Amino acid sequence: MPPALLVENLVKTYGSLRAVDGVSFVAGRGTVFGLLGPNGAGKSTTIEILEGIRRPDSGRVEVLGIDVRREARRVKERIGVQLQSSSFFPHLSVRAVLELFASFFERSLPVGQLVAAVNLEEKIDAASGTLSGGQRQRLAIAVALVNDPDVVFLDEPTTGLDPQVRRALWDVIAGLRDQGKTVLLTTHYLDEAEKLCDHLVIIDHGKVIAEGTPAGLIADNFQRAAIEFPAPAEIPADAFAALPGVAKLQRSEEAGTTTLYTGDVARTTAALFALAEQRGATLAGISIRTATLEDVFLKLTGRKLRE
Ligand code: ADP
Repeated sequence: MPPALLVENLVKTYGSLRAVDGVSFVAGRGTVFGLLGPNGAGKSTTIEILEGIRRPDSGRVEVLGIDVRREARRVKERIGVQLQSSSFFPHLSVRAVLELFASFFERSLPVGQLVAAVNLEEKIDAASGTLSGGQRQRLAIAVALVNDPDVVFLDEPTTGLDPQVRRALWDVIAGLRDQGKTVLLTTHYLDEAEKLCDHLVIIDHGKVIAEGTPAGLIADNFQRAAIEFPAPAEIPADAFAALPGVAKLQRSEEAGTTTLYTGDVARTTAALFALAEQRGATLAGISIRTATLEDVFLKLTGRKLRE
């Protein structure tokens, strides 16, 4: 079975600007695939080419094995695209909005099933203009699902929403994957990408600069975690340095703390507590920091995703 998305050596130029400069990736079916990158990286251009809205200069672009450049219409039947929720008529009810969009397709899902998929049942008769931000985004996802697509494109679906509302949407997005759909997601929230995405591609200046699972990307870029604690006077520094897994020890005289960098947090932590107990010392205020996708992004692009 061909993959959900296949992009090979994709190039798109605007005048002298190579907005997409030889991008390649593959998204497996039934996965949440994240496309990340700073503003202007070429994400939207890549997505619009996959959706058949923009034509590339060169490269291979296939959705579910269908060549997008040659059969854009066939692709459109199989994909769902999240529109800006501001484009819905505010006086129409949720039901009417969904019926309207469903009428554009030969095959569509019943409205009841659509509202259930995004947990919007209780708002089915409410005017779309009266929905909260999170509810509007859920309606936008429901609209993207009207034709029961195999691949769903969600472009920053949680931007501007409260953390709690964002988490509710994560469940909706994970639910799409559970139904076997493939989701292409862009987001400015790296915790969201880390939590939701099975595979990530990071692009910058039109090129792929890293890809992998969230955990894989973190492990590739940061081999060590940091264990930090106020150094007890009873134990000399070289005793900490000799603990298993410790690659580096750093002392801050100013803060009065010792930091151990380790490639094996569990082993080092266990040995650290054993050592303290043996010497009759207490370890209060210990903290363990591991790298996040935010650290990876900063390291690779030199920028934070949200500026
Ligand atoms: P992203 O979605 O990652 O922010 P875009 O794909 O929107 O990036 O843009 C990539 C680059 O291409 C940017 O430098 C942008 O200014 C430029 N660009 C996008 N669309 C056009 C266009 N229609 N005409 C000219 N330049 C464009």
